Amino acid sequence: MINVSNVSKSFGDIQALQQVSFEIKEGEIYGLLGPNGAGKSTTINILNTLLKPDEGEVYINGLNVQTQKEGCKMLIGVVPQEIALYSELSAFENVMFWGGLYNLPKAALKEKALKALELVGLSDRKNDRIKTYSGGMKRRINIASSILHDPKVILMDEPTVGVDPQSRNHVFEVIENLNKEGKTIIYTTHYMEEAERLCDRIAIIDLGQIIAQGDLKELKEISKVKDILTLQLANLDSFNMETVKNKFPDLQQNGNNSLLIECNDLNKEVSGLIKLIQEHKGEIESIETHKANLESVFLKLTGKQLRD
Ligand code: ADP
Ligand code: MG
Repeated sequence: MINVSNVSKSFGDIQALQQVSFEIKEGEIYGLLGPNGAGKSTTINILNTLLKPDEGEVYINGLNVQTQKEGCKMLIGVVPQEIALYSELSAFENVMFWGGLYNLPKAALKEKALKALELVGLSDRKNDRIKTYSGGMKRRINIASSILHDPKVILMDEPTVGVDPQSRNHVFEVIENLNKEGKTIIYTTHYMEEAERLCDRIAIIDLGQIIAQGDLKELKEISKVKDILTLQLANLDSFNMETVKNKFPDLQQNGNNSLLIECNDLNKEVSGLIKLIQEHKGEIESIETHKANLESVFLKLTGKQLRD
């Protein structure tokens, strides 16, 4: 559905994107995960036909974004990073205003606006002015405004920035519903929890380059991050670790009184290990687990935290 190949873009001396390539299949939610300044919005704006790449090519459903701009615009809906709504107008009026840009007949537009408001769960508030809306509700109106022309692809640039945690869930539900209706979605974020929860596949982007892409399992494999289990034993001195190591060769002593094991799947290994330790009269005082997640993948690949 979307094919980006070797796209580069500079602004003066700043190289915002370097040889970025990815492919997105129809019906996927594809995440672009990276810190501020990574190049997420630049990527979205190139897909959105607003920015021209210096190099490389982008196709959306077989159409070239540079030479077939108008066709591409009809295929995509854009939820911008900045909220662009009229606060004195009602939600319905705002959605109608943005829908007016697509030259739909008035009656059809009205019907689509009502349907979009229903889809984002705000039908009952449609006549209230936007200034009475929370950040999350405004985002849902942004989303409603972007889908009136029934686009196949929706580009969302950090749609939960400025949205409180409770309302985020409403935004996620809207995105999941759109995806169930068959929409292909690109979702940019610097929150790894969001990417993990929503996205089928994720590209990790940093300093204008995609450093890894895949689903969570693939990203863990690429970056070789593992789940970590640490156990404190009351009697580590007298405990016969070697016999346990026969079955769990990766088990290590970690400092004076704890054991550590790195494994690919904590859930599979943890109960067997604990049972074996107990069979060998190990007295467990505490257990700590740390499941590998996107944060650890990012840290491993870039050497820095996702959020600074
Ligand atoms: P993100 O959305 O991931 O935070 P951006 O794509 O907005 O990152 O920016 C990538 C880099 O390009 C940053 O260094 C940013 O300062 C720079 N940049 C983006 N847009 C412009 C612009 N219009 N003019 C100059 N520099 C820009
Ligand atoms: Mg951005």
